[in-house]
Amino acid sequence: MTARRHVHDHDSGEGLISVEEARDRILASIAVLPPVQLPLRESHGCVLAEDVTAADDIPPFTSSAMDGFAVRARDVAASTPDRPTALTIAGEVTMGHRPEVAVPAGGAVRVPTGGVMPEGSDCVVPIENCLVEEQRVLVFQASEPGRYVRPEGEDARPGDVLVPAGRRLLAPDLGLLATAGRGSVWVHPRPHVAIFSTGDELVEAGTPASAGQVPDANSVTLSSAIRETGAHPLQPSIIPDDPKSLRDGIRSVAGVADVLVASGGVSVGELDPVRGAFVDSGDVDFYGVAMQPGMPQAFGVVGGKPFFGLPGNPVSVFVSFEVFVRPALLKMMGRRSLFRPEVTARLETDIAGPREKTQFAGVRVRKDGDEWTAASTGPRQSNLMSTASRANGLAIIPAGLPGLRAGDRCTVMPFREIED
Ligand code: AMP
Ligand code: MG
Repeated sequence: MTARRHVHDHDSGEGLISVEEARDRILASIAVLPPVQLPLRESHGCVLAEDVTAADDIPPFTSSAMDGFAVRARDVAASTPDRPTALTIAGEVTMGHRPEVAVPAGGAVRVPTGGVMPEGSDCVVPIENCLVEEQRVLVFQASEPGRYVRPEGEDARPGDVLVPAGRRLLAPDLGLLATAGRGSVWVHPRPHVAIFSTGDELVEAGTPASAGQVPDANSVTLSSAIRETGAHPLQPSIIPDDPKSLRDGIRSVAGVADVLVASGGVSVGELDPVRGAFVDSGDVDFYGVAMQPGMPQAFGVVGGKPFFGLPGNPVSVFVSFEVFVRPALLKMMGRRSLFRPEVTARLETDIAGPREKTQFAGVRVRKDGDEWTAASTGPRQSNLMSTASRANGLAIIPAGLPGLRAGDRCTVMPFREIED
């Protein structure tokens, strides 16, 4: 009799959970970080945790919209280029100060753009339509009340909501908050993310690697991807293939990290440190996700912090981050839409897929007239990092298909800005 060995079918979805189920499970145990008060400049990109209302009128005083003379409309009603009105110059307004003079009947006060409108005036005649002659000014243009005047409260009234809770603060929002006199705001903070690269073969990127050694690419990918979400990566550590080292590493960041992300060491190997550290603790679940790349995953809560155990291959790390870690970080930061926008593209190349797994394939997406097109950036092996670097999107080939052919429509998740 011949001994028969069971051969594992890598395309099979047996015993695996779907991408959606894995993501739902993870997101269910992720909580929004409680709000903190941050100076305006540090709050850029954070989600506002309060409705910010105007305390006072915005703008706070009525001012001139032009360089010119503050006058009474009635006094210049008959002015024309041929028959200018002569007004007596009663003084001038200086920037940053309350006017010391009022505009008397038949008078004018020089005012710069943004200067406080003096008492008695109701409009401004721009300097271009005036001629100054010693103590008087000739006005060549008629006006009406309110002309070239910026009224107080025109932008907002006390109590108006300027920026609602839930808004992600970008440049114009912060400009408005500064205008309203705010120096700080309550926002959901950026999570501090600890990064662990596991593997005896790893050396820090940029240092010489001898035979069998590999530069630690994953911590560089992760730090950058974390920063792109707006979260804050902590200094990564390389962890040898030994569970105790990983536990020690995690303990050392307990006071500073809000989330823990490890790569490598989640598969079946006996030395795999993530599995070794947690497989018996019950804190971390080890499961397979019906996806390619990124099949083995670990997730749990360790010392009160969400812990992600991503697979080790560099492309798997990038894809798992996109699919699981990024939405979790966005949720912690109070963001409402957690997923990348998707587009439907027409494939320009065939993409073979693992039958029973969702495949995330690196593609180059492009807008061609009204239509999106996508072309594969290379084969699907999860160690081929150039395929991810060349890509600007991930094509999602659903489980249950052997792949897609050129000409087929496909959902694509662009992950960087698309040059036309
Ligand atoms: P593992 O998941 O630990 O079995 O690793 C799978 C593959 O990914 C191996 O070829 C590792 O050398 C590689 N790998 C693991 N971690 C990293 C890393 N931080 N940077 C680059 N390659 C890695
Ligand atoms: Mg390893």
